Formats: sequence, C-alpha cells, structure tokens
Amino acid sequence: MAGYDVDLFVIGAGSGGVRAARIAAGHGASVMVAEEDRVGGTCVIRGCVPKKILVMASRYADDLEAAASFGWTVGARFDWQTLIRNKDTEIARLEGLYRTNLEKAGVTIVASRAVVEDAQTVRILTTGARIRAGRILIATGGYAVRDGFPGAEHAITSNEAFHLAQAPKRILVIGGGYIALEFAGIFARLGSEVTLVHRRDKLLRGFDEDVRLAVTESYEKSGIRLALEKTVKRLDKVGARLVATLSDGSEIEIDQVLNATGRKPNTDGLGLREAGVALDDNGAVVVDAFSRSSVPSIFAVGDVTGRANLTPVAIREGHAFADTEFGGKEVKVNHALIPTAVFSTPEIGTVGLTEADARKTHAHIDIYMTSFRPMRAAFSGRDQKMLMKLIVDKASDKVLGVHIVGPEAGEMIQLAGVAMTMGATKSDFDRTIAVHPTAAEELVTMRTPV
Ligand code: FAD
Repeated sequence: MAGYDVDLFVIGAGSGGVRAARIAAGHGASVMVAEEDRVGGTCVIRGCVPKKILVMASRYADDLEAAASFGWTVGARFDWQTLIRNKDTEIARLEGLYRTNLEKAGVTIVASRAVVEDAQTVRILTTGARIRAGRILIATGGYAVRDGFPGAEHAITSNEAFHLAQAPKRILVIGGGYIALEFAGIFARLGSEVTLVHRRDKLLRGFDEDVRLAVTESYEKSGIRLALEKTVKRLDKVGARLVATLSDGSEIEIDQVLNATGRKPNTDGLGLREAGVALDDNGAVVVDAFSRSSVPSIFAVGDVTGRANLTPVAIREGHAFADTEFGGKEVKVNHALIPTAVFSTPEIGTVGLTEADARKTHAHIDIYMTSFRPMRAAFSGRDQKMLMKLIVDKASDKVLGVHIVGPEAGEMIQLAGVAMTMGATKSDFDRTIAVHPTAAEELVTMRTPV
C-alpha cells in the first residue's frame, strides 16, 4: 500500500492474529506481526492445548480404576515431571509449526511488545521503531485477573499451573467457571486433595441449569470438596504452606491456591484510547460485525473484543477480517450458534440456547432429557451418569439447544452443531438412524418430552 511500511500490522500472534496474518499475506498483503511472548498465544502456549494434555493425563486415573473389571491387572504410578516435560516438548513443537507457517506465508515476525501510536502507526518497544501500516489489527487476547483479597499474590493463575515443579498435595481452586472446573478435575485425578471455592450456589454460570446440577453433583461425588456461596477473605503464607480464610470464617490449609475467577481483555497501555478507539467498560475493543473499531484503520479480533472467548471464534474472526479487507469478499462471523466444550470430568458439550433462555425467547418449548449410566460405567460398576438434553421449539419443531454431560460430550456436540447450523428439527433427529451401542444414540431416540 502506497505510503505505508506494511499493509497490515498485527499486534499479537495468538489464535486470531496468526490466522489473520497468514490469510492476509495469502491475499498478497505485506504483513508484520508483533508478539511479546511466544508465537501461538494463549491457546497453544497456556490454554486449550496444554490444558487438554493435562485433562487426558488425569483421565487415566479413571481408566486405570475401571481396567480391573475388564480383566486387567494394573500397577501404575504417576510422575508429574514427566507429564510436564512431555507437554512442554509438544508445545514447543506446535509453536515452531505456527512460526514456520507464518514465515512460509511471507509474514514478518517481530519479537517485541508493540503499541498503537496513532491510527496508522505502531511502535515496536524493543527497538523504538515506528511502523506505518495501512491497517492495524489488535489481537492481543486477554489475561487472568487476580482477586483483590489480602495475600492474593501468593496464589497462582492458570499460567503458572502449567509449570508447577510438582503436583500440589492440597490445592484450593477459586472460581466456578470452566477453567476452575477443568483444573479442579485435573488435580483431583492426579492425586491432589482439591477444594473449590465459588461465590455462587452452583458451578458454571450461564450454562443450562440441568448441566450445572449434573456437574456440581459429579464433582461432589468425585471427592472434590465444594465450598459454595463462599469467598476467600485472605490468604496467609505460613512457612511453605498457605492458609486461606473463607467468608464463613473457616480456615483451609493448602499447598497451592489457583485463582481462576476470570479474564480481562488485554488493552492496558496499548495506546488505544489515545488513538480514539472506543473500549467498553471491561476494557474490550468495541467492534462491529466486520471487526472494525471506532477508528476506520484499526480492527480487533479474538478475546480482546470480548465477544466469545474461544479459539475457533478468534480464528474465524481473524479469517473473516483478512478475507474482507484483503481478499475482496465481505465475510461476517455468525456468533449466534457456537458449539463449545468444557473439559471437566465429566465433560460438557453444549450448543444453542439453554432452557432458561429458550423460555424467554420462545412461547412454547419442549424438553427432551435423559440421564443414564454409560455402558462402560455400568460394566465397571462406577457411579457415573450421562445427561442429554434437547430443547425444541414447539411451533417450528426446530432444535434450539443441545446439552450433553458425560464422556466424549465435546466430540458429540461438534456434530450436533452441524445439524443445528443446518437448521435441524426434532423430526430430523428422530428420522436419523441410531448408532448402536453408543451413548450418542440417545440423541436420536428420545421420543417423549419431559
Ligand atoms: P491470544 O491467543 O491470547 O493471543 C494474544 C497474543 O497477543 C498473546 O500471545 C500475547 O502474548 C500477545 N500480546 C498481547 N499484547 C501484546 C502487545 N502489546 N504486543 C505484542 N504482543 C502482545 N478456548 C477454546 O476454544 N477451547 C478451550 O479448551 C480453551 N481452553 C482454555 C484454557 C485456558 C486455561 C485459557 C486461559 C484459555 C482457554 N481457551 C480455550 C480460550 C482461548 O485460549 C482464547 O479464546 C484464544 O487464545 C483467544 O485468541 P486470541 O487470538 O484472541 O488471543
């Protein structure tokens, strides 16, 4: 682009930034991307990927326990250091892949923090260089917020949880969202005594009530101590141990505290307000359906916009931005229907409306719900339940929501998401032939509303 050093400057090489940079370069744009940490961003380095590896490691505990009923004699021992070392090797491999793919596409990677100086200029902090760009894409993601109670600095966030020298003997997890649940499940299965403190009466605010209930019950049964409707008032370091004082006055002695109460958009000190970019009350960049900010040359995708903080969404937004701005075709992302999974154990898969939301927006809905013991659990005698729930609009017969709790819920919900994106009705589910014997077949065999 005439008069500019680059057509596009991307700040942040995470899920959204990498995709946008690669696709824009593919459309012929000259692209520079600045990354202050590691290429790959939250998902690859300290989010989805290492988290899923830890979840997979933790679930061997259940498999090994069930193995005896299938005739196996198992003498197993778990080693945290081996897991963390192998996880780090895999993350380094993936980081390398992301870097190579960017370079292959012709993108210049700058290893530095970068800030916006004005509507067309980015400053690279390590060198002080000012780069003039036709367009600037903010893809800086979010960061884990720490609570404000005295002693909160002794707690770790999810970032540090991936690098502990050893698995804690006793850990207190603060939070009731998906990250808190996932880590509580991981540590409990890898041998830690886990207490989870959450200020509300149920876990996973915003999810369907039956899902929340099923997961809360399962967590209690799996030996995780739930301290609901409580908060942490203070945290004291006593030698190598920590003592947490809760809002009811009780004290818990632990070795580690994981603060997982929320994340905020990464916009502090980025120069956005000064450049005239509108931010919302939470600090997120306000964007339209084409990821345009209030300044015509500045765009934003991913967690920094606070739309739906998920990797596939950031990737879609980055791709749509690049196609629209550099590929000559206008592409919008549909945020209305986002299938998503929580890798708690039991796993959750959900797409579409919760029952409560469906009741607000539709005059008459039918609920189809079943709860059963999956075949494997029944065989091994384990007290494990699976939940499946369909929410259907009575007038149009359209499936409005699918909610699954149990093994492989994340895999199942991806396909339910395809059906719902195509506008599936309950009759479409009904005329689909079941796959037997599976748990998923229950999705197409529920006939009577509850
Ligand atoms: P990010 O991936 O966060 O990338 C932003 C990048 O910008 C970072 O690399 C950062 O270092 C860099 N940066 C920031 N400021 C600057 C600056 N000024 N200059 C240069 N570089 C800068 N999502 C899922 O879909 N599934 C999951 O299972 C899942 N699990 C998660 C588990 C955890 C523990 C966490 C924390 C998140 C998880 N997420 C998951 C969410 C997912 O990681 C994010 O939605 C996704 O990474 C957002 O992508 P992004 O491009 O917006 O930002």
